[in-house]
Amino acid sequence: MKVKVDQERCQGHTLCAMRAPEVFELDDVDGHSSPVSEDVPPGQEGAVQEAVRSCPERAISVS
Ligand code: SF4
Repeated sequence: MKVKVDQERCQGHTLCAMRAPEVFELDDVDGHSSPVSEDVPPGQEGAVQEAVRSCPERAISVS
């Protein structure tokens, strides 16, 4: 599974990082999220799906 965050849409709500803290890191300055790695680590797929559902901006996409 691969994950991306659309930086144009992300508003830094941090919900994704609360759902999947091992997958998303937040920028120190603006709080915007980006994946630690495009490849989702084994066992984190469910947490990533929760993050997708939790994002109010629909900024997270998986493939
Ligand atoms: S939940 Fe969505 S808008 Fe909020 S930081 Fe994560 S990707 Fe960005």
